[in-house]
Amino acid sequence: MEPRALGNTGLKVSAVGFGASPLGSVFGPVAEDDAVATVREAFRLGINFFDTSPYYGGTLSEKMLGKGLKALQVPRSDYIVATKCGRYKEGFDFSAERVRKSIDESLERLQLDYVDILHCHDIEFGSLDQIVSETIPALQKLKQEGKTRFVGITGLPLDIFTYVLDRVPPGTVDVILSYCHYGVNDSTLLNLLPYLKSKGVGVISASPLAMGLLTEQGPPEWHPASPELKSACKAAVTHCKSKGKKITKLALQYSLANKEISSVLVGMSSVSQVEENIAAVTELESLGMDQETLSEVEAILEPVKNLTWPSGIHQN
Ligand code: NAD
Repeated sequence: MEPRALGNTGLKVSAVGFGASPLGSVFGPVAEDDAVATVREAFRLGINFFDTSPYYGGTLSEKMLGKGLKALQVPRSDYIVATKCGRYKEGFDFSAERVRKSIDESLERLQLDYVDILHCHDIEFGSLDQIVSETIPALQKLKQEGKTRFVGITGLPLDIFTYVLDRVPPGTVDVILSYCHYGVNDSTLLNLLPYLKSKGVGVISASPLAMGLLTEQGPPEWHPASPELKSACKAAVTHCKSKGKKITKLALQYSLANKEISSVLVGMSSVSQVEENIAAVTELESLGMDQETLSEVEAILEPVKNLTWPSGIHQN
């Protein structure tokens, strides 16, 4: 798997990144041994980028990922780890005091001395002005102290990225993480790519399977999509299945095909999912996409194309 440059960070991330939220058992229970084996298989097959958050499974994801990374027994510089701050099982807190404490807690759970990226997690739930004036400056200090190498912001609405990036000094936000906006059913992140490039900001796109909508097992009970979007995605899944095709492969390949996106984070909870997803990249590199099935799936999803859901608080 060809590594891709992440903005101006100098990091080379694998095109498929490991989304560790499933290791927090948020899509169903995952045993510790399976979590460790999944992380090891991912690294063995060329994934060097791992993403987690204290929010996933109420800190469980960070603990599981920490165990998996330790079991690799490779130099720390061989892998890239991102975690987040500001969003917790208990709620949101983007204050400087909380995020300073947060990174220390995360490092302990991850059993690491530093992370490569520390993101402010789902900033649309906080005051964006606080993110600009308080949280990001606090993260710059953590950068100077060596607790994180780079700083990022994440969230669902795309306008949060321009709001913040237009108000912070260049080079203070190194990357953004967008989710559910670059996949077969929603590709609106595309419109923002030229702006992000002009700012020198690295682009990570998460949830190519639309957080389970584009899988045979279907979305988890907490999935925020409308019934209309859920049923259209289900119809697309059924169509692929009837042709003997895997929608997960098609959806992942679609997201990976745009090389302006440095890494596509896919959540994985088993060795077999890792193997299937890596096979999907390898096949994309050698054979390209199954255009016929893609066109059929796009036609099924056309009525719900770019339909999303509300997220966050009203910003003044
Ligand atoms: P996703 O679209 O990657 O879907 C994950 C689901 O698909 C899980 O149930 C997983 O087990 C399943 N899956 C993966 N490969 C499969 C395969 N080959 N066959 C069948 N099922 C398969 O959604 P996600 O996990 O929410 O997103 C990926 C990662 O991105 C997260 O784990 C997280 O690290 C990150 N993320 C961050 C944010 C944020 O910062 N706000 C939001 C969403 C996701």
